[in-house]
Amino acid sequence: VPFQQMNLSRPLLKGITEAKYVNPTPIQNAVIPVGLLGKDIVAGAVTGSGKTAAYLIPILERLVYRPLKTPATRVVILAPTRELAVQVHEVGTLLGKFIGGLRFGLAVGGLNLRVQEQELRSKPDIVVATPGRFIDHVRNSPSFSCDQVEVLVLDEADRMLEEGFEAELTEILKLIPMKRQTMLFSATMNSNIQDLVKLSLKKPVRLMM
Ligand code: AMP
Repeated sequence: VPFQQMNLSRPLLKGITEAKYVNPTPIQNAVIPVGLLGKDIVAGAVTGSGKTAAYLIPILERLVYRPLKTPATRVVILAPTRELAVQVHEVGTLLGKFIGGLRFGLAVGGLNLRVQEQELRSKPDIVVATPGRFIDHVRNSPSFSCDQVEVLVLDEADRMLEEGFEAELTEILKLIPMKRQTMLFSATMNSNIQDLVKLSLKKPVRLMM
């Protein structure tokens, strides 16, 4: 199904054109329609499959006509490394270019903590972060809250566990409202991932590529 037939709004389709995507990849064909319904998703997907846009497109569609009057962080995307978080932030900014007023925040190690804190305090719609840095902000910045988060993405969940972020993830899951959409992406599906799925998702649709 081409992007034009996925019932996406105009500003988002413009962003997809800007990114020079013509046809969806298999993971995008599988994830986008389910993601648009607001369902929880477990997807087996490796880097290079187009998984980033697969979850960003339903997220951006949700934010196109933002009904909130006051700014709030509504989406949190967690990734195992600074490099991946930076990439997600870049793809999101490109795809969301024509969505008026949309703001992204980035919280990763190596960037100035104070500057990031200021950015998060302004409540960007979407925060892309590594689990460790995200926890630092939640613990130390009383003005940053997860109370209005509606969507959580765990990207490369297997690598996040390998990097030793299990405790951070458990803590973050307690802070984000239960009533949310969660999308988990992982290249492998071992028992540790299954445990994380049980902990973080509700009746997930499983999409294995
Ligand atoms: P990812 O698997 O998300 O890291 O994406 C791998 C690469 O594929 C990135 O460089 C994307 O820009 C590119 N990409 C993602 N979706 C599409 C698409 N539908 N058509 C062409 N390129 C794409």
